[in-house]
Amino acid sequence: MPLVPQRADVPVTVDESKCVDGCTLCVDMCPLDSLALHPETGKAYMHVDECWYCGPCAARCPTGAVTVNMPYLLR
Ligand code: SF4
Ligand code: SF4
Repeated sequence: MPLVPQRADVPVTVDESKCVDGCTLCVDMCPLDSLALHPETGKAYMHVDECWYCGPCAARCPTGAVTVNMPYLLR
């Protein structure tokens, strides 16, 4: 169980079990600064709901922990 429950309806979700301690790649990649490291868990999460669905956060994650939940209309 994750220490901090993540909402499932945000644009980008992070699998905390795959997120590597000390890594900030997805946080650094996001042009909107929508991702951040959680102060308690140290894992990346979406802290604001804004997202362009541009994808580098998921593409650059070394462990595939990031999922961009593309809305149906944009596919
Ligand atoms: S898809 Fe783009 S805007 Fe959305 S969280 Fe990832 S990098 Fe940021
Ligand atoms: S790129 Fe992947 S491993 Fe790195 S902070 Fe983001 S979710 Fe965690």
